[in-house]
Amino acid sequence: MECNDLRCPVHGSIKTRGMQMSGRVVSDKAKKTIIVEIDYTRYIYKYERYLRRRSRIPVHKPDCIDIKLGSTVNIAETRRLSKTKSFVVTSVVK
Ligand SMILES: [Zn+2]
Repeated sequence: MECNDLRCPVHGSIKTRGMQMSGRVVSDKAKKTIIVEIDYTRYIYKYERYLRRRSRIPVHKPDCIDIKLGSTVNIAETRRLSKTKSFVVTSVVK
């Protein structure tokens, strides 16, 4: 499928570099932006336990990728696309 979105990693002119993650789509209210929630754990040596954290990242959604609420997506870091967005969806896991 083709798209005319300039901010598409496949058909547009943006390059991805830096972090790559996958997370759950928790909001698709905006036209070209989705909110992806990421659960991660970090080991804390002092307490010998894992710290569980959750973060929400605004991610650009290109026109050629169809995304449903609750699905899991792969995202990659790119240049800053707006005040809060610097990630783009690369593929849908399920
Ligand atoms: Zn595209």
